[in-house]
Amino acid sequence: MMLNERLKSTNHQVLAALSPRMTLPKDSYIYFNNLKKGYEGECKFDELCEKYLPPEWFVLRNLHYTLKGTDFQIDSILISQYNLILVDIKNFENDYYIKDGNWYTLSQHQISNPIAQKERIAILFQDLLNHFSSNLLVETYLLFINPAFTLYQAPIDSSLILPTQINRFMKTLNEKPIKLSESHHKLAEFLLSNQTSDKKHKCIPEHRYDMLKKGITCEVCNNFMKLSSKRSYLKCTSCGCEEKVEKAFIRNVLQYRVLFPEKAITTNNLVDWCEVLSDRTVSGLLRSNYKFIGHGKSVQYLV
Ligand SMILES: [Zn+2]
Repeated sequence: MMLNERLKSTNHQVLAALSPRMTLPKDSYIYFNNLKKGYEGECKFDELCEKYLPPEWFVLRNLHYTLKGTDFQIDSILISQYNLILVDIKNFENDYYIKDGNWYTLSQHQISNPIAQKERIAILFQDLLNHFSSNLLVETYLLFINPAFTLYQAPIDSSLILPTQINRFMKTLNEKPIKLSESHHKLAEFLLSNQTSDKKHKCIPEHRYDMLKKGITCEVCNNFMKLSSKRSYLKCTSCGCEEKVEKAFIRNVLQYRVLFPEKAITTNNLVDWCEVLSDRTVSGLLRSNYKFIGHGKSVQYLV
């Protein structure tokens, strides 16, 4: 049973909202692509959990914690009767090798050692768990989800799950006892409620409102949309797909919210942000989708 949604991190949402509206600096662009790739891998792992794990299992996704000033994130936590399983999911592609304990791509570019990262997370998590008396056995795995990943000189390490081992790993999990009780519920609640919000990454570029291109972006290709000849629809100027105005509007309101949490959601602000919609349309959509405070011209919507 999935106990929470796998939401994109705030940094991911910010970069996704910015990418069609400004030219991202190179480091932001690379970071954004890594986030997208990571998220895709995590979603693939969710599909495996749906496929292999009995519904009694608790599955918690994308959890953020801060402990003694250190932030850490866990991609998936699986709770069975006797085990608490942390899974760090990597969507690496192509060939890597390990030399003297360091990880490299075949072009000899060193990357941060994912085994060391996994161990760091395991230690921090154990500290977190000390605040909750649980006798579940904690296991931590590093799982490489992409079938196009190869690791030369891979260590023989049962906590490292390579692409060819994933199905077997999931089947092994499936055999674990699954009778969950009130204490498992309480533990899951503890893990969900003790999260902190993810911090702004150094690769998030400066983005003042006046720097950004305005308009409604397409869900499929992220380019801009214009009003369609079909009533209540928008059409993408690039891929040609059509979408209901209301759905596209809500998505773009959320982009505005994530980019400018300090700005009020008002009709005027959103008319300017969306560019292709009239005052009347924006006002109607805000009223029908969100609660509001204030009255007359000072109405603000709660998003
Ligand atoms: Zn499009």
